[in-house]
Amino acid sequence: KNTIDQIAAGEVVERPASVVKELVENAIDSGANAVTVEIKGGGIDMIRVTDNGSGIEKSQIRKAFKRHATSKLTCIDDLYTIHSLGFRGEALSSISSVAQVDMITKTADDLTGTRYTINGGEEISFEEIGAPDGTSLIVRNLFYNTPARKKFLKTPQTEGSYVGDVMEHLALDNPTVSFHYINNKEDKFSTTGNGDLKEIIYRIYGRDISVSLVPINVSDNGYTLEGYLGEPSINRSNRNFEIFFVNGRYVKDKVMSKALEEGYKQYLMMHKFPFAVLHLRLDPSMVDVNVHPAKLEVRFGNQPALYDFIKTHVENTLRSHEM
Ligand code: ADP
Ligand code: MG
Repeated sequence: KNTIDQIAAGEVVERPASVVKELVENAIDSGANAVTVEIKGGGIDMIRVTDNGSGIEKSQIRKAFKRHATSKLTCIDDLYTIHSLGFRGEALSSISSVAQVDMITKTADDLTGTRYTINGGEEISFEEIGAPDGTSLIVRNLFYNTPARKKFLKTPQTEGSYVGDVMEHLALDNPTVSFHYINNKEDKFSTTGNGDLKEIIYRIYGRDISVSLVPINVSDNGYTLEGYLGEPSINRSNRNFEIFFVNGRYVKDKVMSKALEEGYKQYLMMHKFPFAVLHLRLDPSMVDVNVHPAKLEVRFGNQPALYDFIKTHVENTLRSHEM
């Protein structure tokens, strides 16, 4: 049973960045509008996510760390079935089975908070403690009890940079949540939560890019595209700055990339790529987000229509900005 837990955990928890993503999504789900994330040693040594959300009621704490959505999982074969179901209800149980976890949580209705410690899936302590409203989760020594998995991690510096990417995408995806991100005691960025996407881009990527952003906001044919296009002269040498969200989820997608690059075509130098942050919204039935729940791929229903929509509007927006 414990082995199955650890294998299942490997599917949800690949590396520190995936832990951070799950914990921040839980924080946002709990209604938090301020989330602080601090990591040490690339997130392998320590990840702390603190929120001002609902907190967890004392009677619900142990339950939160039990695998619920997929408690039917009893053999290795079932793991394959999970792919199609999505991994909901897996994060805390998975993370706590492969790390040392400390949680401090308090709801507004409770007078005291609780500190709960669980290491490698085993409860260590459950005690009353004074705490502010909200939840703070500390994850230490990721994969300390699964050395085979730990071997697949890259250097702390590289793992830390993956966490940084995830934090940037979360901040860009949630403009009304205030984020603060700290890596090895160094303040990386913070956002105000005032809803201004342009200001978030400024705070993450700096002044050079943000002074010359071209806003785009178009709706057509069941698609809505909203965000900012970098000044055509600001070219990049890789696609890391083609930042796409589909219905509020960060994705990497070839159709969107190609369409964006085609829209920029006359401005781009050879082998260069644009800077863009784009939120695409469309009817959920027109996009399959469950190609793999933990991965960044999606599959669109009508690719040619989407391609034309993005390319045409990017082109038109850039052209009208020039004049
Ligand atoms: P899921 O989010 O899919 O329900 P998780 O394992 O991520 O599964 O979380 C289990 C449960 O723990 C959540 O459903 C929620 O009730 C509770 N929980 C987790 N993190 C928080 C948090 N930061 N604030 C409040 N409740 C939380
Ligand atoms: Mg969750």
